[in-house]
Amino acid sequence: MMDFYNQKHAKARKSHKCEFCGKEIIPGETYSYESGKFDGDFFVRKLCEPCFTMLTEFIDYTGEDEFQWDWIQEWLHDEYCKDDCKDKCEYSFSKVQCCPIVREKFKGLLEEGQ
Ligand SMILES: [Zn+2]
Repeated sequence: MMDFYNQKHAKARKSHKCEFCGKEIIPGETYSYESGKFDGDFFVRKLCEPCFTMLTEFIDYTGEDEFQWDWIQEWLHDEYCKDDCKDKCEYSFSKVQCCPIVREKFKGLLEEGQ
C-alpha cells in the first residue's frame, strides 16, 4: 500500500539515470521525480518523461497502485510490438521501453496532455 506519494516534473541540474530505460537524463532536461513510502519503505524514482508516461498509462490501465517493471514490459509488448516490425526488431523483451517506435507513441501522449 502507498503510504504517501509525491511526484513532480523537475529540470535536471545534474545528470541522472532513468530507472526504467537506463537512458541518461541530461542537465536541462525535464524529468519525473517521485518520492514516497510504499509498504513502509521509502523510495525515490527518477524517470525520463517517456518512461514516466508509460508508467502512468500502465497504472491507469490496471487501476492498481502496484506494479513491476516487467509487467509494464509485457503490456508494452502486447500493445505495441506488432507483426510488421517484430522480425527486424533489435530490442528484446527487456528493452521494449527503449524502442523508438514505442517511445514515440508515449511522446505523443505527453504532448497531448500538456
Ligand atoms: Zn526512461
